[in-house]
Amino acid sequence: MTRGATRAALFAGGLAAVAALPLVGRAWRSGGEPRCALDGVALDASRRVRVVEDGGAERLLCCVACGDRWLAAAAEPVRAAFVADEATGAEVPAGEAWFVRSRVAAFPVCACFVHAFAREEDARRHAAAYGGEILDGKARPLRGRARRGARESARTRQGGKR
Ligand SMILES: [Zn+2]
Ligand SMILES: [Zn+2]
Repeated sequence: MTRGATRAALFAGGLAAVAALPLVGRAWRSGGEPRCALDGVALDASRRVRVVEDGGAERLLCCVACGDRWLAAAAEPVRAAFVADEATGAEVPAGEAWFVRSRVAAFPVCACFVHAFAREEDARRHAAAYGGEILDGKARPLRGRARRGARESARTRQGGKR
């Protein structure tokens, strides 16, 4: 399969998973190990993404790619998003993290190649070692809906569920 086809398949899968979100959320709360709110993949604490919704509810995603897809499909803007620092496992606000897309998978289950770091030097070291590039500006992942303007809110409210 080509890389593009893989991406398209993953994207389609992600959309289907988003449609099933409420179900997944319920299954997750009913016990067992915590799983990704998007695709149900078992979480790795050093790679997970945590999103806090406006109402305070928390969503855990298995990787940056899932976090990005989840935010893109979220019906409401979110209050905050956090990523795990790959170097230490500690949680960092997504807006302060350094993201690197490299040749090695950050989370192979999802074919996610975006790595998150708390410190610039760790990000640059990874980029240098694995042919990576720092994702900056509009290329930054998880920009999602955390800080979008009124126009976006108005639109989501209009088309909102419930
Ligand atoms: Zn996932
Ligand atoms: Zn994932």
